[in-house]
Amino acid sequence: MSFELHILGSGAALPTSKRQASAQYVNCNERHILIDCAEGTQQQLRKLGLKLQKIQFILISHLHGDHFFGLPGLLSTMHLLGRNKKLQIYGPPGLETLVRAMIAAGGHPITFDLRFHTIEPSKKQLIFEDRLIEIYAFGLKHRIPTLGFRINEKQKPYHLDKNAIAKADLRIEDMPKLKAGLSIERDGQLYDFRDYTLPADQSFSYAYCSDTKPSPTYLEAIQQIDLLYHEATFCQEHKDRAKSTYHSTALQAAEQASKAGCRYLLLGHFSSRYDDAQQHLLEARTAHPLVGAAEDGLHIKLGNWPPIFENADKTQAQ
Ligand SMILES: [Zn+2]
Repeated sequence: MSFELHILGSGAALPTSKRQASAQYVNCNERHILIDCAEGTQQQLRKLGLKLQKIQFILISHLHGDHFFGLPGLLSTMHLLGRNKKLQIYGPPGLETLVRAMIAAGGHPITFDLRFHTIEPSKKQLIFEDRLIEIYAFGLKHRIPTLGFRINEKQKPYHLDKNAIAKADLRIEDMPKLKAGLSIERDGQLYDFRDYTLPADQSFSYAYCSDTKPSPTYLEAIQQIDLLYHEATFCQEHKDRAKSTYHSTALQAAEQASKAGCRYLLLGHFSSRYDDAQQHLLEARTAHPLVGAAEDGLHIKLGNWPPIFENADKTQAQ
């Protein structure tokens, strides 16, 4: 089991020598998810050693170019490399029409199974689940319809308490039920799973909020998130600009994270006017105790607490 996040692009609309525009790669228990796909995303995947054919889900937040202009190119590469497995793309209204028109114009139709799911930005809604994970979409407050995403690990299996089991009249076929938290009744005897198991490993959650102005409307959707990525395009010095462009300052991102009870806040989507994120961090830390700044190549292992941060200096975009 693993829950890992790779930051492929941590900048806002204008790519710089240090920061590409928005894209992230999430591996949640071997479910491979790309969130946003700016120009340059496939090169970032290659630089970081991430296999683009493993991607099963692409989540696109909105139709500003710095969040999806890399998508036609990525799909084309997947096709040229002979992809034959299904790819599911979730995004706002209009995305499918745009992308399919670009593919059709080139005269090279995509032959793998490409499924689009159009999501109306509104209340939190479950868009995918299987036995290990669930993915939710929810509406943000931006100039055009914009989605945020939340990925949860489901409840993990209980650990068997071998000492307790050895003293009871339990069978091999009972073990999967106990691990799943189910009690067993046999011959009038109840075997309560809590007596034969130890606590399960912790399940973690991650949410992505870019782009948005701060709003109470999405607080419920990010409630109690372990790791929240929230855009912090501006510092307080430019808070008027943040307001007029429907973006957030670092302080506003931290206030949102605190209100929603998020454990760790990762800032990103930094405007190219700033050389680094030091001022963002200073301001955000006045409103939330645990704040980090995204950078291209950052690798976060969320399967532990606190999360492990590994900086990929060697592979950062130059
Ligand atoms: Zn935008």
